[in-house]
Amino acid sequence: MTINIGVIGTGAIGREHIRRCSQVLQNSRVVALNDINRSNCEQVINELGLDAQIYDNAHDLINDTAVQAILVTSWGPTHEEFVLACIKAGKPVFCEKPLAVTAQGCLNIVEAEINAGKKLVQVGFMRPYDSGYRALKEVITRGDIGEPLMLHCAHRNPSVGDAYTTDMAITDTLIHELDVLRWLLNDDYVSAQVIFPRKTRNASSHLRDPQIVLLETTRGTRIDVEIFVNCDYGYDIQCEVVGELGIARLPEPVSVQTRSAAKLSTAILTDWKKRFIDAYDVELQDFIDNVASGEMTGPSAWDGYAAAVAADACVAAQNSGEILPVKMPPKPAFYA
Ligand code: NAP
Repeated sequence: MTINIGVIGTGAIGREHIRRCSQVLQNSRVVALNDINRSNCEQVINELGLDAQIYDNAHDLINDTAVQAILVTSWGPTHEEFVLACIKAGKPVFCEKPLAVTAQGCLNIVEAEINAGKKLVQVGFMRPYDSGYRALKEVITRGDIGEPLMLHCAHRNPSVGDAYTTDMAITDTLIHELDVLRWLLNDDYVSAQVIFPRKTRNASSHLRDPQIVLLETTRGTRIDVEIFVNCDYGYDIQCEVVGELGIARLPEPVSVQTRSAAKLSTAILTDWKKRFIDAYDVELQDFIDNVASGEMTGPSAWDGYAAAVAADACVAAQNSGEILPVKMPPKPAFYA
């Protein structure tokens, strides 16, 4: 069964997902496009040789009976409106992170989905689909290292542009750890603190970089995440889990080992798009398969809400310097 997909937002990640759905994945076909700039849609159609209709209004695309599922890959502040419209139309929707730009916006989506009585939303958190994180979760779940006590993590980018602000270290960068570490530990956060070490000379004058985020979970596991977005040397994601019986680390991306000029070396990636490229394929294939089977199993609207609540606490902790509570209501049975 081929699923007819409509895409709202044909910018960087939208184009990547359109290429995936048209050329890489099974059982999907992109039939409709919308972007605030019509010329962006025309360009994608020409580049990929698509047979797709362009809509000037995203709501017309959502309500087109030929469109069976929607990808929302537009600018973050538009996500809530479009996801709510998809739920109203009863159509499955894959929404890139963030699900909404505020925790309240995410909660509005959660409530709309519960009222609709059917899971329709998958959030674009791709790390749970990464083979390395999956292998790490298996080790933890099997009990190989006993109960997890501490996690030491890092999210490093070689550099960021001048438009990147201190709070974006949380809302754009840490947001992936906030989702994947919750999933890895099957636990929720209860507190957050942010510490600012000595600033790198490579950061813009307005940006505090690096930062260390300290999180505590309901079971008392302590997590430290270093966010260093002008680290200079590469795009580097680290995660080490210290358990009662041993330590497990996220595998490094595959890289050829070289012995040359008196050095033993392996390359480090510099482009974030390459680090999780396979995970993006797997997450979208999962969405398409779930649309076909009628049962959504990927990162849910509740997961999007949980990440947003934790992110809000981290941003507040950046400003206050204090340890702040992360207040999550109990998970509704709908998302069990
Ligand atoms: P982008 O290149 O700026 O693309 C966004 C596109 O949406 C642009 O073409 C933009 O047009 C269009 N747009 C803006 N408002 C719209 C509206 N009201 N209706 C329809 N289209 C609209 O941004 P991006 O990098 O692709 O990011 C898009 C989303 O994906 C963001 O939420 C981002 O956080 C997320 N993302 C996730 C990952 C991941 O790892 N999961 C990676 C990258 C991005 P204009 O250019 O004219 O504004």
